[in-house]
Amino acid sequence: MFSTVAIDEIVDEFEFLGDWEEQCRYLIELGESLPDLEPGEKIEENRVHGCMSRVWFIPSLHEEQGQKRIYIRAKSDARIVDGLICVLLSLCNGRTPEEILATDFRGVFQRLGLETHLVPQRRNGLFSMLGRILSIAEHARDGGLAAAASQETPDELAHDATGPKANGAATLPVSGSEAEPRQRPLDVQAVRADFPILKETLPSGKPIIFLDTAASAQKPQVVIDRESEVYQHYYANAYRGVYQFGDRVSRELEISREKIQRFVGAEHSEEIIFTSGTTMSINLVAHAWGRKFLKEGDEILLTEMEHHANLVPWQIVARETGAVLRFIPLTDDGQLDLSRLDEVVSPRTRIAAITAMSNVLGTVPPLAEIRRKVKAVGALLLVDGAQSVPHLPTNVVSQGFDFLAFSGHKLYGPSGVGVLYGRRELLDAMDPFLTGGHMVARVFRDHAEYAPLPAKFEAGTIPIAQAIALGTAVDYVSDLGLCAIHEYEQNLLRYAQQRVAEVPGLKILGPSPEHKGAIISFVMEGAAAQDIAQLLDLRGLCVRHGHHCTMPLHDQLCIPASVRASFGIYNTREDADALVDGLHFVRKQLKL
Ligand code: PMP
Repeated sequence: MFSTVAIDEIVDEFEFLGDWEEQCRYLIELGESLPDLEPGEKIEENRVHGCMSRVWFIPSLHEEQGQKRIYIRAKSDARIVDGLICVLLSLCNGRTPEEILATDFRGVFQRLGLETHLVPQRRNGLFSMLGRILSIAEHARDGGLAAAASQETPDELAHDATGPKANGAATLPVSGSEAEPRQRPLDVQAVRADFPILKETLPSGKPIIFLDTAASAQKPQVVIDRESEVYQHYYANAYRGVYQFGDRVSRELEISREKIQRFVGAEHSEEIIFTSGTTMSINLVAHAWGRKFLKEGDEILLTEMEHHANLVPWQIVARETGAVLRFIPLTDDGQLDLSRLDEVVSPRTRIAAITAMSNVLGTVPPLAEIRRKVKAVGALLLVDGAQSVPHLPTNVVSQGFDFLAFSGHKLYGPSGVGVLYGRRELLDAMDPFLTGGHMVARVFRDHAEYAPLPAKFEAGTIPIAQAIALGTAVDYVSDLGLCAIHEYEQNLLRYAQQRVAEVPGLKILGPSPEHKGAIISFVMEGAAAQDIAQLLDLRGLCVRHGHHCTMPLHDQLCIPASVRASFGIYNTREDADALVDGLHFVRKQLKL
């Protein structure tokens, strides 16, 4: 069942064929020999994200002559990808975790010409699969992958096909100078080096300790360079001219759209609409879907912790249509009280519009459970991903989102650009939101026919360079790996929350770290939020104070304002320590 062709054989065949078209055909043939998985194995938890196609990996560990050897069964829904999987499996199946980690995969890719010939999306997919293999090997090396219960012998595992020859990979020439794709865990110092702003100092000479990523994230050099590259080398308005020079910008925009499509797991690139940000994305749905489909007495389900961007548009549409707002209440520790879901979901529920991570409490709600409930009454699910998309893996199909809204600027990308994902049939059925140029197919004096998706929802000139650079931001975080990002940030959060909680008189809002993202909002007895933020600023600590666009939540918590420290991929334990020192400094200054 683990049968794969030996790597030497693959390399020989590639060299013999010489021509990429022939080699591609051979990859397809290889792919056809890859056994299928059981339907029940093609599930989300086995998915490898970051690939254009759907890919599933199932690793197991087998004890052979006192050594633990890894075997991976894998399959995709594309034949060339299956061929690439064969190449990868020939390099790792039947080998020890240490051997896998020492294998020069990139050297093999180069020998096969894959780095040159594969289109960027496929190349990214190949590296995502490689990333998964390396993390499986690391996990196994560290004792995290249990030995398989299977009694199959190495021969029965068709080891003969890969056999000792498969290990020939180790003897292939080493590429050496090429940078390896980033592997887990996240290397925070390498990440910090990517962000030029972190080298800046304040006028006082103090370094910047940036704890306001939930408001807007800093930008890595690649994103800055990309935006400037557009202006320096190929800027023109998109989708307009027939002149060749203008063609590049339109192509780059579509490449970016496709990157975002894969990043969120959407099925079609036209389901990705460029907007100005989460606010506009939610307004688009509230107005273009809500006005058309909501009727008097229909219910819109929200939660008590929504950002104003996911509340006010619904208030307006509810007022116009006669629909009613219902709210999932919070528990005392700031989680959604699902025991009361039945009270707020009814056959009149038409849409649930819910944040996937609160920007104040950090709460990550159990969306799967909410989805089940609302789908059972035929309602749609809109997810406000402004906070979650930069910090958690997202897959709109497997998570069953009908709409997803998020902002570029919180995803280490440019400001002024954001995304609305919508299921194609829903977007098709909706009327346009903004109207004017580009969103029309044919305009008459008294009416217009609309352009197909995505143009129908992209009236006027979209933020061109920003939308292109958002694709680069997506590449950047995908390269780090959303799982690695999440793991790193959760570790940091646990550390920071424990330390912050030790500060006397301080109350942290929201649930414990296992139920939230890397956000710590708090109040301090005897200290106004604004004073705390201002005094922390004297220490170079950038935190936010106020209601964070969640006035109803603050009313409910009976506090006028809170202080929020939020963490991103570049924050360290030292930043958390500085925050704690800063809070002691605040107490001293305020004589608390
Ligand atoms: N929703 C949430 C949860 C947010 O945190 C924010 C930004 N603070 C928004 C929506 C609005 O995002 P934007 O201002 O980028 O439109």
